[in-house]
Parts: sequence; structure tokens; C-alpha cells
Amino acid sequence: MPLPAVRFDNSYARELPGFYVAWKPDPVPAPRLLYLNVPLAEELGLDATGLAGPEGAALFAGNLLPEGAEPIAQAYAGHQFGGFSPQLGDGRALLLGEIVDRHGHRRDLAFKGSGRTPFSRGGDGKAAIGPMLREVLISEAMHALGIPTTRALAVAATGEQVFREQALPGAVLTRVAASHIRVGTFQFFAARGEHDHVRRLAEYAIARHDPALAGAPDRFLALLDAVVHRQASLVAQWMNVGFIHGVMNTDNMTLSGETIDYGPCAFLEAYDPGTVFSSIDHEGRYAFGRQPQIAHWNLARFAECLVPLIDDEQEHAVARANEVLGRFPALHRAGLLQGQRAKLGLRATDPPDPAQDADDAALADDWLALLQRESVDFTLAWRHLADAAEGRDGVLRALFADPQAPQAWLARWRARCGHEHVQAGNRAEAMRRASPRIIPRHHRVEAALDAASETGDLVPFRRLLDALRRPFDDDPSLDEFAQPAPRELTAAYRTFCGT
Ligand code: AMP
Ligand code: MG
Repeated sequence: MPLPAVRFDNSYARELPGFYVAWKPDPVPAPRLLYLNVPLAEELGLDATGLAGPEGAALFAGNLLPEGAEPIAQAYAGHQFGGFSPQLGDGRALLLGEIVDRHGHRRDLAFKGSGRTPFSRGGDGKAAIGPMLREVLISEAMHALGIPTTRALAVAATGEQVFREQALPGAVLTRVAASHIRVGTFQFFAARGEHDHVRRLAEYAIARHDPALAGAPDRFLALLDAVVHRQASLVAQWMNVGFIHGVMNTDNMTLSGETIDYGPCAFLEAYDPGTVFSSIDHEGRYAFGRQPQIAHWNLARFAECLVPLIDDEQEHAVARANEVLGRFPALHRAGLLQGQRAKLGLRATDPPDPAQDADDAALADDWLALLQRESVDFTLAWRHLADAAEGRDGVLRALFADPQAPQAWLARWRARCGHEHVQAGNRAEAMRRASPRIIPRHHRVEAALDAASETGDLVPFRRLLDALRRPFDDDPSLDEFAQPAPRELTAAYRTFCGT
């Protein structure tokens, strides 16, 4: 049977020879489709019905290449936990090609777990079902929360085993991204002194992500500025839903501003900025509260790559790059406050009022300090603050060991709300659109993945996915998914890089 048509237009392969190695996915013994993202397939203009059959399984496992695909392993470098690795690259991934979606946006289609490549180093190039379904759950949750992210189009079981601490069933994930250009892609060429390549990559990135800058005299500095803006906004959005990326290496930071690389990520339960779940992050480099600083640090590494393009005179180029980089903290704080105001049920003042901004930021900070002191669930506290806006404090107070603890803060918040003439019900509704009820809770995620991986039972995965796609929904049938994980479980929870 013919494969459903995919209309590829592979600009990266065409325009950037020397930036990748053409390579083929490994054939696998027994492809079986575990997951197909039908709404995403439709958005991409793909024939979801055709892809749901055996041809789809063969395609998404890497056994049948659709016409027009030009699989390549992309070269990149990266700072991992602060140390520079000059050569990482797609060691278990392949970019199949690009398609232009129904909205006219160019999207990458890439495999993860499709076998060894010239960049594999010691790795086997493979992936297991559990971590690939985990990427589906968390990335779909992020998407439903309105946060820029790569998406998962499909997961196919391969019918072969992969060997980690134990033998696990193998799988291939198909990832969709605005692009796979990373800070580390620039670093790969900059570290080799190949400034011409850095320039070509920058021109390509501008054409793809910031076309309004094309041809402008200061476009490389403007590209830096655009990426600084996107990352400041992205990380602010993470902070406002309690997302911990877990491995913010520079190879895991995109120019597009999408969240990428769902390895050891997890959501906060009780609020504590020091929270770390990753089994290898011994020093807490990528702890929840450090994410803005780390993003800023990564952007400085990006800026270093661009310096030779910004100005012939190095000192001048560095000064200009630093000025742009220096905007990050304020941009991030502004993004954070914008989200926090929505969660507090407050509006921004018009025109902007720095004194009011400072007051509102302090109100949010003090709320978070209270949650930390009382070890309160981050998601539920924000969510039930909306009830308090309607005068129902009971559920919120019950989250605190001492129900009197939020008293003073609530009085202050109510006084602030009183400055705005907004009907209580409308305020509460708006707050519920800003603070989710349902996030991927550890115990739910692990139970769903264990069932899928150990017994092939996909029902818990599908139910959880359905709940995560409706994070703001008060539907009582989703109540069980809103419950925090047991504290003992969270205290001992460890996540892995998915290798
Ligand atoms: P990640 O932790 O997914 O960001 O990966 C970091 C680097 O390790 C990238 O270059 C990956 O391609 C590579 N890598 C991760 N897992 C494997 C694997 N199983 N086989 C080969 N390379 C891998
Ligand atoms: Mg990575």
C-alpha cells in the first residue's frame, strides 16, 4: 500500500551542506503504532487516517521512508552542566525533513531513537517506550498550558529491546519542532573558528524565525535580542506553572523559543525553588529557582558565538552584545509579573506604573514565600486562590498545615483587588484560565508509563493524556488527576535523561 503523502521541503538539508551528515534510520523488527497525535497530524496537513494503519507504524518506526524525506543527523555542540562538549550532535535522532503546516508555518519532522549515527559516541542510538511516552505526556501538557514547545506526533514500538539498567521495549518518537536550531548548533561551528558557518547559520535562523530582520545592517545583534526575548518569556512561563526542565544544557535551548528535550523534566509539587529531580544534577545547577539565571548564562554562550558577526572590532561587538544580554533579567521579570498578575486576578496598570509593578511583584513574592514556608502544593494553591476571589477560602486554607497562615497575605491581596472594579466571578474565572488544575503529577506519569512499558496497557496513558489536555477544566471526572503525588514519593522522586 502506498504511504500517505507528506510534502517535504527540506531547507536545512538544501541550504546548509556541511552542517549535518545524511543518514538513515535503522530498520526495526516489528513496528507497532502506540500513539498518533491526530489533531497535530491534521494541523500538519497529514492524512491522519492513513497514518493510523500499518504503513503509519512502518513510517514512524523508521522502516519506510516517506517520499521527499532526506534524513540527516545535525551537528551541534553544547555546554553540559557548565562544561563544554565540542561535539554532541544527533546521536539518536534524525531530522527527516520539513513541512509547511496549515497555518503556513515551517515545521521540522524528526525521529528520536532511530539508531546510531556518526554522533552517537558510546550510545546505542535507541530509545525505550517509557521515556518516549513521557515526552508525549509532558509536551502535550505544556502545549495545553499554552507554553511554546516541540510536539510529539507519534510513538512507534520497534519490537526490539533496548538495554539500560534492564532490558526495555524500544520505541521511536516523531518530534515536530519550529526548528532544531540550538544554541549548541552555533557553538559547534564557533568553537572550530568557522565563523563563515556561524554566519550562514545565523542568516538561516533569521530567515526562518525572524524574517523581518533579513538584510538589516544590525541583524545579528537583533537576532540575539529576539532570542533573548523569546527565552525570557519562555522561562517566565515555565516558572508560572512550576515546570522544571532538568537539563538546561546549551544544546537543549532552541532559537525558536520552544521548550525542547523532555528528559528529566518534572513539575513542582510543594513549592520550593531548590527542587531538583534529575538523578544526575547533584549540585542543583538546574533547580527550579535557578532556571532564569541558567537561561541567561546559556544566552551569553550564544552571544559569544555571534560576537564576530556583530562588529569587526571585538571590543565594540562585546559591548553591544552585553547590552542586549543585560536586558534579560528585566524582560524575564516582566514576563513573570505578567503571568503572576493574571494568576492573582490583577490587571496591569495602563499606562505602566513602576511603583505598582514593584508592589505587585512583592505581593507575588510574598505569596510564594508563604507557600514555601508552609510547604504547600504550588498548583493547587494558585488554583484555589481563584475560589478565594469569590469569598470561598476553605479549600485554599486547608492546603496549609496552619489554616490561619495565609490570613494576613489574603487581606493584603483583597485590598489590592479592591482597587480594581472587577466583579468577583469574572476575576475568579480569569484566574482559573491562568492557573491550571491539572499538571503531570509524578505518580500518575509513572503509573501510566509502567503500565505501558511493563504490560503493554496503554489505557492509563490515554486517560492521563486526555486529562493533561484539559488543564483548566473543572470537570469532576478529572478530579483524581488533580491530586498531588504522595509526599514520600515526591521526596524520593528521581528523573533520568532518558538515554
Ligand atoms: P540529551 O541528554 O538528550 O540532550 O542528549 C545529549 C547528547 O547525547 C546528544 O548528543 C544525544 O544525541 C546524545 N545521546 C543521548 N542518548 C543517546 C543514545 N542512547 N545513543 C546515542 N546518543 C545519545
Ligand atoms: Mg538534547
